[in-house]
Amino acid sequence: MRQKRAKAYKKLMGMYELVFGFRQPYQVLVDSGMCMSAQDHKIELVKQLETVLQGKIKPMITQCCIVELYKLGKERQPAVDLAKGFERRKCNHREAIDGNACLKSVVGDTNKHRYIIASQSQELRAELRKVQAVPLVHIKMSVMILEPPSDETIRVKAELTQEALDVPEEEKKELPSTAPKEAEFVAKPRRKAKGPNPLSVKKKQPKLPMISPRPQPQRLDTLELKRKRDDEDGDVREDGAPKKKRRRRKRPNESESIHTTVEQNTIEERDT
Ligand SMILES: [Zn+2]
Repeated sequence: MRQKRAKAYKKLMGMYELVFGFRQPYQVLVDSGMCMSAQDHKIELVKQLETVLQGKIKPMITQCCIVELYKLGKERQPAVDLAKGFERRKCNHREAIDGNACLKSVVGDTNKHRYIIASQSQELRAELRKVQAVPLVHIKMSVMILEPPSDETIRVKAELTQEALDVPEEEKKELPSTAPKEAEFVAKPRRKAKGPNPLSVKKKQPKLPMISPRPQPQRLDTLELKRKRDDEDGDVREDGAPKKKRRRRKRPNESESIHTTVEQNTIEERDT
């Protein structure tokens, strides 16, 4: 299965799970036509269904559908054998009825048992699109296809999502109002325009920037700052000039001792 299609199917099944409560193993009701198609196209039906639906499945068949297969004779024995391996879904039709009618009745008005229908009957699929949340699978040119959600499914989904977002009436009363007060809606009187429209007036030519007569004031500041910092060090020699680098490096904390040892070591090394 192509990656794009796989992604779309995963998203779709995710929607059926999240919005309509489908759970794995998905219950897939297979009709007689689907069993025959699997035989014709030599498709491993269960494996293909699990690939397309992207999860574990429980294949099922109704009594009426399997009876349809029995009637077809020896030629369809492989399809019968396939169907026999599936779980039998009781449909309570004493006399076997048409497979489509049987599946329609099993799904009912709301598909409350959350069946996925794998059917080759276009007629049945058209009927089931009128029911909410019935994932539909069929085989076309030996490719298994999961139909996009029906209009009814989309409509109910939108309803359910809105319901989930809505706050119940009784809770609404307790919530503080977030609507802006009426007063805020009163429009402020518009200011009268003073003078001509600024957009219609010709722009003044911008003055050329003056060249500052002071030479590099920023650098001066830095120099001043440096001098000040030197003064703050306090260690001023008698002639007023600040002491040299070595003195300023000294710090009044533990690191001093480390420095001293390092210095001492170097001196010792030099001596030897
Ligand atoms: Zn039935």
